[in-house]
Amino acid sequence: MSKYFSGKLSSIEPYVPGEQPRDKKYIKLNTNESPFPPSPEVVKALDEAQVSSLNLYSDPTAKELVDAIAEYYSVCPENVFVGNGSDEVLAFVFYAWGENGFTGPELSYGFYPVFSQFFCVDYTQIDLKEDLSIELSDYYNVKNSIIFANPNAQTGLYITPEKIEELVSKVNGVVVVDEAYIDFGGESVVPLTKKYPNLVVTGTLSKSRNLAGARIGFAIGNKELINDLNTLKFSFNPYNLNRLSIIAGAKAMEDKEYFRKCVTTVAETREFTKKALSDIGFTCTDSLSNFILAKTEKLSGKELYLALKERGILVRYLGNEIIKEYVRITIGSKEQMICLIDTIKSILSEAEK
Ligand SMILES: *Cc1c(COP(=O)(O)O)cnc(C)c1O
Repeated sequence: MSKYFSGKLSSIEPYVPGEQPRDKKYIKLNTNESPFPPSPEVVKALDEAQVSSLNLYSDPTAKELVDAIAEYYSVCPENVFVGNGSDEVLAFVFYAWGENGFTGPELSYGFYPVFSQFFCVDYTQIDLKEDLSIELSDYYNVKNSIIFANPNAQTGLYITPEKIEELVSKVNGVVVVDEAYIDFGGESVVPLTKKYPNLVVTGTLSKSRNLAGARIGFAIGNKELINDLNTLKFSFNPYNLNRLSIIAGAKAMEDKEYFRKCVTTVAETREFTKKALSDIGFTCTDSLSNFILAKTEKLSGKELYLALKERGILVRYLGNEIIKEYVRITIGSKEQMICLIDTIKSILSEAEK
């Protein structure tokens, strides 16, 4: 830290992304990306003409993308905000509605506490239940803004729209539901944003639409709330989405058939993996996302992570106290998961010797 660095930021602890190593080729199951390429429609649309128009600024309203997201979710374009990854959307969320603080689960997306430090927003964390699930009735008396991911980050555990509606109807503050993983088996609460002016849903094209590298995220909610986010964006980075990402995102939203094929395959492979791991003595959370949290009594989370890495498979060891026995495994292709399971079997049999 230089002597010029702002004092109020001196204790900030930056987010630590999953490894993106370049030393060798790994089977990469550590950052919840899709194992499948973007839709062929995306690839087709990003032609030479598009690349050669990069001399011009992008559309600051990202109309094509906003319209495609609005169409997919059956809302009006004025109810949609887009950002450079949902990380940027979430940053604006904390800055816009954090004056009286935010409340969230003790274990969720690792960026929430970082943004709260970045923007000097108080962040109160509420314990998970013993089974790692979120108990929304614990939030009924919260007076400030609320944020949680559904399915939750790290655990993959899902909360039904009925329970979320009950919370949203009981509190006065903004409730932000981060639906980064909703497409792998959950039901979105976007329809409830028409009924509740304090509900905002965020989403990303990084996971279920195979576009992590394009950096596209969005928020859906009441017009006034979306205006708040646009006010911040136009005060900070008006051209926050580049030309290629606007087109890629719009095409990915439009190609529903390819999207459904990918998310269905991931969900089936997830169930296959859960079953195969439990057959060899693992305990997995009942995840509805594109990853599972798994543990075995034979090895610690850290030992398993290191043994897999040595053998060319990257999973995520989060090291967080409440899930320190676990590793988080992204659902890859079926072939990758079979290779993972075979490798785990050989690690376990070596450990027994
Ligand atoms: C991956 C993830 C994000 C960030 O998504 P990007 O659009 O890639 O920035 C946000 N929230 C949760 C819960 C995530 O898992």
